[in-house]
Amino acid sequence: MANVLIIGAGGVGSVVAHKCAMNSNIFTTIMLASRTQSKCDRIAAEIQEMHGVTIQTAQVDADVVADVVSLIQSFNPVLVINVALPYQDLPIMDACLEAGVHYMDTANYEPKDVAKFEYSWQWAYKERFEKAGLMALLGCGFDPGATQVFTAYANKHHFDRMDYLDIVDCNAGNHGKAFATNFNPEINIREITQPGRYWENGEWIEIPAMSIHKPIDYPEIGPRESYVLYHEELESLVKNFPTLKRARFWMTFGQAYLTHLEVLQNVGMTRIDPVKFNGMDIVPLEFLKAVLPAPDTLGENYTGQTSIGCQIKGVKDGADRTYYIWNNCDHAETYREVRGQAVSYTTGVPAMIGAMLILTGVWLKPGVWNCEELDPDPFIEQMNKQGLPVNDRVDVPLPHEY
Ligand code: NDP
Repeated sequence: MANVLIIGAGGVGSVVAHKCAMNSNIFTTIMLASRTQSKCDRIAAEIQEMHGVTIQTAQVDADVVADVVSLIQSFNPVLVINVALPYQDLPIMDACLEAGVHYMDTANYEPKDVAKFEYSWQWAYKERFEKAGLMALLGCGFDPGATQVFTAYANKHHFDRMDYLDIVDCNAGNHGKAFATNFNPEINIREITQPGRYWENGEWIEIPAMSIHKPIDYPEIGPRESYVLYHEELESLVKNFPTLKRARFWMTFGQAYLTHLEVLQNVGMTRIDPVKFNGMDIVPLEFLKAVLPAPDTLGENYTGQTSIGCQIKGVKDGADRTYYIWNNCDHAETYREVRGQAVSYTTGVPAMIGAMLILTGVWLKPGVWNCEELDPDPFIEQMNKQGLPVNDRVDVPLPHEY
């Protein structure tokens, strides 16, 4: 049906490439391109061996718009799936506009020199994409991504008005390493060392990083200490669902992880400004990334599950209603299926589903869109078919109070 170009060959890019190859009736020709071509070649060989599908590979520096345009023109895809880093979002969007192809990603743009993530930069492309008759789908991983689809699904089927939203994200897995991050270390550490932020009564409340926490009971996992963080989908959710009085994002962290992080912060290793070392400028966080395990190497002995969902309280037919919608995903099972751990898998599968819904015309709509602005039903249907089964429960007491 269509050519698709995937940019970025890390943990997530590998899962996207595997899952597109496993749906080769829709993704008829696949190219995986990244900064280091040998990583693309290794994934291509794995896909050939596991699924009997041949994919093409290429080298590209996605910071250079002209290079991305040339690659698009030579391969001629209908859509570019950007699973490189958030820094590359704007150059790849520019290249898609220039070459006349659709765009999607899994994380919003952030400039390299300030740890600041917000949608304003990408929302500013709306008119240009609309005029070109092209679509840009933003943040179509799990969180952001599936969590917004969950919220839209709740709004469509279970509420007349949503008042309170808590996104709850647990990784109860064990990879056996002393310290590692489950997705790109640089992006992950920038995210969680920022002050926390949540939405309440029409304004953002800022809190010191990790200062609000409590145990939340996750299905099939049990209680895990969970911390309020700022997470990018909150920005679009409170805009698109303005009745929300409060919206928060919770994520679990183990004590060992937090202790390592505190030490790294205290000694300056999470700094993102350059320091002089042997006459060279180096950024401590970039150096730290180089010595930490890469997310795509964690899968082999990873055990346990992730559980990510939305807990919502509001009103239906004049009565109070509570609703919980979630997915649990098992690290060892995803490794068996696509050689990736569950955090890469829960990001890569929704990305493939978003791409599928664009290519089949189901979600195709010119402009720049966040996931909750599109019909959630076909997405949920595909999650159930593509390895991320969705559970939900209506009118049960939610695990933590509102
Ligand atoms: P990795 O670090 O494993 O992979 C990133 C890949 O991007 C690497 O292959 C890297 O190449 C490549 N890359 C980096 N810079 C460039 C460039 N200039 N040109 C071309 N390729 C480049 O990260 P992950 O796979 O874990 O994460 C990928 C994306 O997914 C990130 O944006 C992350 O924020 C997002 N994410 C989203 C989630 C969600 O639920 N929405 C959850 C988890 C991640 P090289 O190998 O040469 O370094």
